[in-house]
Amino acid sequence: MIDSHAHLTSPELLPDVDAIVQRALDAGVEAMINICTDAASLEAGLALRKRFPAVYNTAATTPHDVAKEGESFFPLVERHAKDLVAIGETGLDYFYAHSPQDVQRAFLSRYFALAKKVGLPLIFHCRDAFHDLFSMSDAEYGGKAVLHCFTGTIEDARGVLDRGWYLSLSGIVTFKKSEALREVAKFVPIEKLLIETDAPYLAPQRYRGSRNEPAYIAETAAVIAAVKGVSAEMLSEQTAQNARQFFALN
Ligand SMILES: [Zn+2]
Repeated sequence: MIDSHAHLTSPELLPDVDAIVQRALDAGVEAMINICTDAASLEAGLALRKRFPAVYNTAATTPHDVAKEGESFFPLVERHAKDLVAIGETGLDYFYAHSPQDVQRAFLSRYFALAKKVGLPLIFHCRDAFHDLFSMSDAEYGGKAVLHCFTGTIEDARGVLDRGWYLSLSGIVTFKKSEALREVAKFVPIEKLLIETDAPYLAPQRYRGSRNEPAYIAETAAVIAAVKGVSAEMLSEQTAQNARQFFALN
């Protein structure tokens, strides 16, 4: 199993991060992609990777925070690109308009250019903004990407797959009310699927309300496997292989 998206060095997880990573390794998680969203989490992530080679780092300012700290973090992401396996999470979030939409689009453009320049794939966050994400990337990008924590429709999923991108499902797929997302899980070919915790957020149903961590990824894998009618082992191994390929691990 590979957790393709966790915020291990966020303020919520950092105080216990070594124990959290160890619990994940003990639970059979072979690699974790740590999403660094600011200077502090990136510095901690680079140090964490020295202690745990199973941890890989990515970096970008989230669409929520670009207005506040996108400018100051950008040169750091660029400087550390050689230590990263992807640029992200970047994208567009028109649901929570924490940063103005035009600022979100401006930074998305800059991250397109950076990803192309340094030869890394992109991790997209997208909420209520698929039209703009698709049209901007068609015009400016065209490279490798994963749509993380996908919560869109089958039509949105088709747009993701049409562009050759991967689609990553989080613990939301395990929630009782997520019938529509389980239909998406059924629809997406297993070769294009990644799984993630998005820890510390979105703990799967069994742990709902508690702080999420990569060790809990197995429940998400089990639910998706059941929906697709394959074994949890097969689902775990195929999604891990997809992640190894996408992030060019090892
Ligand atoms: Zn995230």
